[in-house]
Amino acid sequence: MTIKRRTSRLLHVGSVPVGADSPITVQSMTTTKTADVDATLAQTYALSGAGADIVRITCNDVAAAQGLAEIVPRAPVPIIADIHFQYRLALAAIEAGVAGLRLNPGNIRKEEHIKAVARAASDAGIPIRVGVNAGSLDKDLLAKYGAPVPEALVESALHEIGYLEDVGFDDIKISVKHSHVPSMVESYRLLAKRIDYPLHLGVTEAGPPPGGLIKSVAGIATLLLEGIGDTIRFSLTADPVEEAKAGRKLLEYLGLRERKSLDLIACPSCGRAEVDVIEVVAEAEAALEAEGLPIQVAVMGCVVNGPGEAREADIGIAAGRGKGHLFIKGQVVRVVQESEMVEALVSEARRLVDEGVEARLAAADVSAADLAEEQAVELRSLQGDANRAAERRAAVAEAAGE
Ligand code: SF4
Repeated sequence: MTIKRRTSRLLHVGSVPVGADSPITVQSMTTTKTADVDATLAQTYALSGAGADIVRITCNDVAAAQGLAEIVPRAPVPIIADIHFQYRLALAAIEAGVAGLRLNPGNIRKEEHIKAVARAASDAGIPIRVGVNAGSLDKDLLAKYGAPVPEALVESALHEIGYLEDVGFDDIKISVKHSHVPSMVESYRLLAKRIDYPLHLGVTEAGPPPGGLIKSVAGIATLLLEGIGDTIRFSLTADPVEEAKAGRKLLEYLGLRERKSLDLIACPSCGRAEVDVIEVVAEAEAALEAEGLPIQVAVMGCVVNGPGEAREADIGIAAGRGKGHLFIKGQVVRVVQESEMVEALVSEARRLVDEGVEARLAAADVSAADLAEEQAVELRSLQGDANRAAERRAAVAEAAGE
């Protein structure tokens, strides 16, 4: 499936392009005090390592702006300053060398202040995100609409953009975040029809995982699949590293970014499982994450259905009677003792990444496939065919009148 992206303008946050055909980017935000330069830099590195392309840092006082002056040149990714209420801090952040600003139209109200920031950003050649948030909507708009409905969020964004455009500033991206997923989706859909600036997607105040993850994925993925969105942020009440990881993984799972991390697929387990699937998956995940291998790995609880159902995976393991059946692209290449199955999986995964599929299939144990089939037949005879194929075929034939 190819996603047809909405046509948007291109801008740059430092070295990272946003909008048009550029890859959809992941953002996250530090939770440290910005004035604590070492802690903020350490977290910025952690976020970058977890998949963040751009990191936002609050600039809430002069000490924070001074901290930014030290952080920006040492950060591994472009830094955006988050500004609330005090437009002078936006000017200070620009002086500190940030690659972008985020302004909240709900709390920088004076037109001349917004325009002063736009002129300084224009001189510095950096973009501004107009970050509308349902929770801090302009009071007049709240009074007009009675609630932070999608139309109110869009009006707030357009109003703010007007101030920026008045001084010839169009290096703009926009977000209209809402904590209510259907309202968030509708706000972006409405906005996408009105302007062609890049859009930054997010469900605001999504809360802790798993609820926060579910809300964020529901809102962000819905829009991305419609081609709406150029950069994303998961707003989780959790270690921000989790936000960056989740954002990156979502883009990889949607096929919007190349796979850089592990994609672990596993059966949900059932009464046929020959091992404790949850335990084996946890063990395999920890070992594979530590290796940092960018492949799809399957862990299946039994050989009756496992290798077939997971044939699309790069590599996988299925439990037999006291054995682990290691398969590559659905073909069994080795049968190992159950106690060694995770170790064998990790070592084969490593070799698969280094040597490629063809080489590892060529190095397969020729007797493994036969041994695996023997075990699968044995299990089927003990447990019955999971799909009750013979029984179902007979029922179909009977229904057809044969
Ligand atoms: S692979 Fe086997 S254990 Fe896992 S859900 Fe399917 S039948 Fe059950």
